[in-house]
Amino acid sequence: MFKLFKTILKAGEATTKYPFAPFPVSPGFRGKPELDPTQCISCGACTIACPANALSMGTDAQAGTRTWELFLGRCIFCGRCEEVCPTHALALTPEFELAVGRREDLFQRATFKLEPCAECGQPFASHKEVDYALALLVQSGLPAEEAEAQRTHLATCPACKRKQNLADPSKVALGPYINKGML
Ligand code: SF4
Ligand code: SF4
Repeated sequence: MFKLFKTILKAGEATTKYPFAPFPVSPGFRGKPELDPTQCISCGACTIACPANALSMGTDAQAGTRTWELFLGRCIFCGRCEEVCPTHALALTPEFELAVGRREDLFQRATFKLEPCAECGQPFASHKEVDYALALLVQSGLPAEEAEAQRTHLATCPACKRKQNLADPSKVALGPYINKGML
């Protein structure tokens, strides 16, 4: 018996005190993804990368808003969203206690204001995304005033940009043919 106690004492504690004490997880543990809405520019990169379709983006053109949504019930904690996020707005946390009483509590949402196209007025990208593109120009060395002068161009939707490019013969080689009615 004494020998058994000695072996037990030597082995130390084989179990943890969880759930009466916090359970320490390993560094790099992939738990619940958390969004920092102040950092998010609503670019949608994470929603495209998510292999489990746990992330989605919904646009309400009437209200001029775009809503980012995470449904934890589908998340497989792969970390792809964190990898692709350009602004470090989304990160996996050490949190693993995810049980909830209501399905609705498995959702995280954040809503962003959309920028209307400078040409046609249709909302197409989030206001923060346009600001982010300008900030990147400044970061890459363009003086702030010159970057600001690009705002109208950056705030033009892809469809209007295409039309502008086609109408301007100096920008697209097809322009002269279109203007002459040859295409
Ligand atoms: S961790 Fe993976 S599955 Fe979960 S939201 Fe991010 S990309 Fe999707
Ligand atoms: S990739 Fe990052 S910035 Fe873009 S929508 Fe997802 S969380 Fe927001």
